[in-house]
Amino acid sequence: MVVRRALGTGRPRVDRVPARWFECAKRVCRSELCFTAQFLAKYPAMRRVLGAIASFVLLPFLAAGDEIDWTSVSSEATALLQEYVRVESVNPPGNEIAAARYLAGWFDRHGIESQIFESEPGRATILARLEGSGKGRPIVLLNHLDTVGVNPDEWSHPPFGAEISDGFLYGRGAIDCKGMATVEAMAMAAIGRSGQRLDRDLIFLGTADEERGGALGAGWFVAKHFDLLGDPEFVFNEGGHGRRLADGTVVYEVSGVEKTPYWLKLTAKGPPGHGSTPRGMSSVERLVRALEKIRTRTRRIRVVPEVDVYYKALAKRETGELRTRYSDLAKALEDKTTKAEFLARAEDAALVESTISMTVLKASTKTNVVPASASAELDCRLLPGETPDEFLQSLRETIDDEIEIEVLLNFAPTSSSIDTPLYRAIERVAAREKAYVVPNVVRGFTDSHFFREKGITTYGFVPVVLADEETRRMHGVDERVPVAELGAGIRRLVEILRELDAGDGSTAVAE
Ligand SMILES: [Zn+2]
Repeated sequence: MVVRRALGTGRPRVDRVPARWFECAKRVCRSELCFTAQFLAKYPAMRRVLGAIASFVLLPFLAAGDEIDWTSVSSEATALLQEYVRVESVNPPGNEIAAARYLAGWFDRHGIESQIFESEPGRATILARLEGSGKGRPIVLLNHLDTVGVNPDEWSHPPFGAEISDGFLYGRGAIDCKGMATVEAMAMAAIGRSGQRLDRDLIFLGTADEERGGALGAGWFVAKHFDLLGDPEFVFNEGGHGRRLADGTVVYEVSGVEKTPYWLKLTAKGPPGHGSTPRGMSSVERLVRALEKIRTRTRRIRVVPEVDVYYKALAKRETGELRTRYSDLAKALEDKTTKAEFLARAEDAALVESTISMTVLKASTKTNVVPASASAELDCRLLPGETPDEFLQSLRETIDDEIEIEVLLNFAPTSSSIDTPLYRAIERVAAREKAYVVPNVVRGFTDSHFFREKGITTYGFVPVVLADEETRRMHGVDERVPVAELGAGIRRLVEILRELDAGDGSTAVAE
């Protein structure tokens, strides 16, 4: 099947060319490339006859043909991800254009037209659309084309080699975000090929610059070309995924909330001079003193409602001690031992406080030169509900010294409700594999906020199931994805999209 649309106009340039003649009989097809369509244009009365034949004689075969060949989908997805990982797109510099061109070629081979946009030379975003019937508003399948960097010496497999070993595909971006893009692109191709038309347009949007804040990617696209998305109702993005717990239970973590970044630059001033003759409190010493106060500050641990909902959902699946702890986390953390135990796991700790990570340090470049100024950058992440002003005030009180504080990055906190047909569709699909869904809070941030700021329900959910071991490798060494999960992820995504079309009829949720 070929789906071609003149992107940007919202109108088909060439109509659909169904793969089977009897589809033309059943559906409206006016393509000049389609023999059956031309025949029917000449003899319109024949449409009914052919339609009847299709319905009564061929329907059983058609239904069988509509089924997706998951084995082939799986192996195609593996090949796609391997080739895609080999297209290096480390940001900086990004050079997403190479990734965009690769994907455009892939979509073209699968009969899906795409368009590439550049915010700056080489900084590309790609949009591809699989047309739905228009009964529902579009769904955006969001992902980003850039990756973080690598130190190849630390890797046990070449980071851009996409080698497969022991059932894992290794490479930078294997999960974040080339793995996600693969699942989304392949789901579109599989649906397109099946001949099924969903109620909604599926829009693949691969953006530039996510790893550096998204200003040249999703932020730019939403500001300049938002109309091309045609009033979408939902966005799927990274941010949550399926997790396999120690006892084998599968949890789908779907995120509607993220912590907000509040990146700060601290600058201390002091008398400059020669290293041989110290002149009192230097800029570097003043900065170090401030940082030490921050390091040893009293931590403010609290359980905000969004986080409470997450642990309460986890509690349902736990037994014994953990069940009690998660059911009322705030109360459990009043106990000193429990609190220490809980905070020892960094992933948990980051959910109960606004965190501060010291990252960039800059001062003199010469051992014998005392610099006039020294600076440090702090990567702070605020809990939902905490305002930047409130946070800054308490930081100033902690430092209690003349230190300049500049805000490098911040945006308003946004969130998406989980009371939606899409969330319920995810729950129904989860129930089929005896998994359950929990609404989690993302510790980092993604491009989701650009869409949430537009009022679009945006969920962080990559439909692959990963062990914590895999999650830890993202942005780290030996990033990898279980090959079997690619196929499984595509299948889950296709089922969720079909389930959304089927509507809210059933509410079967695994208990
Ligand atoms: Zn990512």
